[in-house]
Amino acid sequence: MRLDHWIGGRAHPPATGGYLDNHDPKSGDLLGQLAAGGAADVDAAVAAAEAAPVLPVAERADLLEAWAAAAEARIDEIAAAEAADSGKLESAARHGDIPRAIANLRFYASAVRTDATACHGTEDGINYTLRQPLGTVATITPWNFPAHLFTWKAAPALAMGNAVIAKPSEMTPTSATLLAQCFSEAGAPAGLLNVVHGLGNEAGEALIRHPQVKAVSFTGGTATGRHIAAAAAGALKKVSLELGGKNPSVVFADCDFDAMITGVARAAFFNAGQVCLCGSRIIVEESLHERLAEALVAATADWRPGHQSGSLISCAHRDKVESYVALARDEGGAILCGGQRSGPDGGAFYQPTVITGLAIDSRTAQEEIFGPVVSLHPFADGDVEQALALANGVDYGLSASLWTRDLGRAHRVAARLEAGMVWINNWNTRDLRAPFGGMKQSGVGREGGRYSMEFFSQDRNVWVQL
Ligand code: NDP
Repeated sequence: MRLDHWIGGRAHPPATGGYLDNHDPKSGDLLGQLAAGGAADVDAAVAAAEAAPVLPVAERADLLEAWAAAAEARIDEIAAAEAADSGKLESAARHGDIPRAIANLRFYASAVRTDATACHGTEDGINYTLRQPLGTVATITPWNFPAHLFTWKAAPALAMGNAVIAKPSEMTPTSATLLAQCFSEAGAPAGLLNVVHGLGNEAGEALIRHPQVKAVSFTGGTATGRHIAAAAAGALKKVSLELGGKNPSVVFADCDFDAMITGVARAAFFNAGQVCLCGSRIIVEESLHERLAEALVAATADWRPGHQSGSLISCAHRDKVESYVALARDEGGAILCGGQRSGPDGGAFYQPTVITGLAIDSRTAQEEIFGPVVSLHPFADGDVEQALALANGVDYGLSASLWTRDLGRAHRVAARLEAGMVWINNWNTRDLRAPFGGMKQSGVGREGGRYSMEFFSQDRNVWVQL
């Protein structure tokens, strides 16, 4: 299959005629090719976006709902493409990722219908606020949840009346194209939603630097996020950055043990550990350390590739994960399970891996590995301050989970964890109205609900003299 850009409501071959290969990470087989975009393709997408109409609010909401229905009609095809591109299990894509991507569309259809702005009255005048579109905006998304992150950004941007140019990861390009086709099938005007494929440092770079692009919403690695923030600063563009994490699961000995093990195993190994929210460090009360380690090792059986998770995104990424496990050994860590490849030769599979005995300031315990690798770090019984110091002692601050039956302690610790999102006795349950985003090196800004709607719009205050 050959994927062209989707510009102005139709397939658009790359200006240079160049294509990139797209491989199946489960087997290494060639799946197809995608357009290698560059500045000329971005120019064409910007021209299409600038020519697109700004629809009335009710029509935008109707269009998002029609888009959801059109995507649902092709859900099996989109899920199969997502699984092939990303290495996910097809069942996970069919019942998790793609329904979530569609739910984003319906959520923002409903949110924009009920959006309201403030009116401030005084004795001699009133102020009212108009919430208006920015114009053409860019969304840049990674490979771990391609369809979900595509609509997570495109839906609020379109709901607020913008035209969108999306640049998906070149490793997972297909679902964005299929969803853009569905948007056109739903009756969208040409140019409202465009997809430019290609490499980050070519297509992505041209997009973030284009003067007509008013805002960039980015999810991906911290180094790329820093680069995008610097590039956008010169033109004073709005940027939203959702970046990496090295998130703690903080476990107290009084927790519901079985629920905790299920939760921390999921936090460590869901999507083969390729989730920015993954709990990759378990900070556990000393007296529970050994029991937790044993139960977690047993739980990894469920998370073997092919059971509840698929492959990693690529063999290159598998090699990176593998090099971190080698580093963990050098840093004095003991590998309790995993620590090796699995599956067929050409596939990017890696076993769920549990490590103990690492210093909290070791590189393995500090840097984002983005694979099925978790380290255990005990703290002295009852020493909440030490637990917090371990949990907060990283550059990142995206999310945390916290496991205890002591409700007072749960609230006190939640308020002091340096993380944009904290789950108490749970992991990764999401409410689309709630703010999503990180502290410290995990990002700038919040997405979700009204946060995304505010990002993708600008408020104009109007004073009326009475
Ligand atoms: P990147 O940050 O490199 O890529 C994310 C997106 O940004 C991709 O679409 C990429 O394009 C694009 N991009 C890259 N460079 C530029 C640029 N100069 N200008 C504009 N866009 C650009 O993440 P990776 O996919 O390479 O993953 C690297 C690491 O990032 C992971 O190992 C993980 O640690 C972290 N990560 C974090 C995620 C999160 O949700 N917070 C998600 C995924 C990764 P292309 O892929 O075509 O190069």
